[in-house]
Amino acid sequence: MGGRHRVTLIPGDGIGPEVAGAARLVLDAAVSGIDWVERDAGAGALAEHGDLLPEETLEAIRASRVAIKGPITTPVGSGFRSINVALRQELDLFAAVRPARSLPGVPTRHGTVDLVVIRENTEDLYRGVEFAAGSPEAESLRAELRKLAGFEIRTDAGVTVKPISVAGTRRIVRFAFEHAKANRRRLITVGHKASIMPTSDGLFLRTARELTADRGDVVFEDMQIDHLTARLVREPGRFDVLLLPNLYGDILSDLCAGLVGGLGLIPGANIGWEYAVFEPVHGSAPDIAGKGIANPIAMILSGAMMLRHLGERDGASAVERAVDAVLSGGEVRTPDLGGSSSTMAVADAIAAALTS
Ligand code: NAD
Repeated sequence: MGGRHRVTLIPGDGIGPEVAGAARLVLDAAVSGIDWVERDAGAGALAEHGDLLPEETLEAIRASRVAIKGPITTPVGSGFRSINVALRQELDLFAAVRPARSLPGVPTRHGTVDLVVIRENTEDLYRGVEFAAGSPEAESLRAELRKLAGFEIRTDAGVTVKPISVAGTRRIVRFAFEHAKANRRRLITVGHKASIMPTSDGLFLRTARELTADRGDVVFEDMQIDHLTARLVREPGRFDVLLLPNLYGDILSDLCAGLVGGLGLIPGANIGWEYAVFEPVHGSAPDIAGKGIANPIAMILSGAMMLRHLGERDGASAVERAVDAVLSGGEVRTPDLGGSSSTMAVADAIAAALTS
């Protein structure tokens, strides 16, 4: 057991407060000593503070360094950036970590999945360098590219730029190795399309290879992203750590969520050298919000990841074992898994399994 831990809790929107309450109950039952600091973000914060991501929420995360958040509804319409993108940028959360593991009592095509997707979170086509078709900026970019290297781009083309840097790649590769070692994982597979994009994906691959040359304890391999995707669907049990640039990481982490049984089960984390924000993969689920039937397991497992990050390894493993015990029991489960239990009934059962 560690000492006291200060954690910023952002309940979020929709089912967020319901699953956040459930996770808090389980985490408090698993370890003593979490000092919760609750702050708003999302549609609720917009109504109350006139800001989707109030400065006081960012300050609380900076002070506690660790946060766990429920999903946030991104209001549709111009003028709002995604809170998740804003948090990543403000706190430099450069690594997205999403474990996908087969769970007992959740039938899927493959029963042997136990892998983690580590996705670079700040660069690549998601960097936001966009030039709209027909805009003056796109026009001058076209002229510049023609002058620079004779590239011809159609006048009606929109352009998204794909920056991948040595520094950005080095830190995600180092992070992936540290993560692999700390979690006793043995194989890192880098996905890329270096043959078609040697200057961006090729740089990612070369940089990863340079850094991995002298790390005998973890085996490193690489695969073209299309080949990797096909193998992942056929034999996911052969993979361990997937290390991916931003866009491929986004897509393949959802594929991996699909491999193990659905949105209500998959935890995640956004991590930088200074701060870490844990959150389930799912959204605010407006269709079931307020009914008390959301599956809290993704949020609870995000909490287990957070406990491990805080050094509470025993507490983290205990929560994961308790989730497995309740799922394999088969009696207490929410409607998305075919049951009829409430969010809090699942949380109570998991908390009870901690001590049994
Ligand atoms: P969603 O994940 O909210 O819902 C998709 C489907 O999965 C719905 O049918 C929903 O009922 C179900 N579902 C999701 N989580 C569940 C759970 N824990 N238990 C049971 N069923 C669950 O995706 P969406 O409908 O595309 O998005 C809704 C809102 O959430 C949007 O405003 C979107 O921007 C936001 N969103 C936020 C995040 C985040 O904050 N991390 C992530 C994704 C989407």
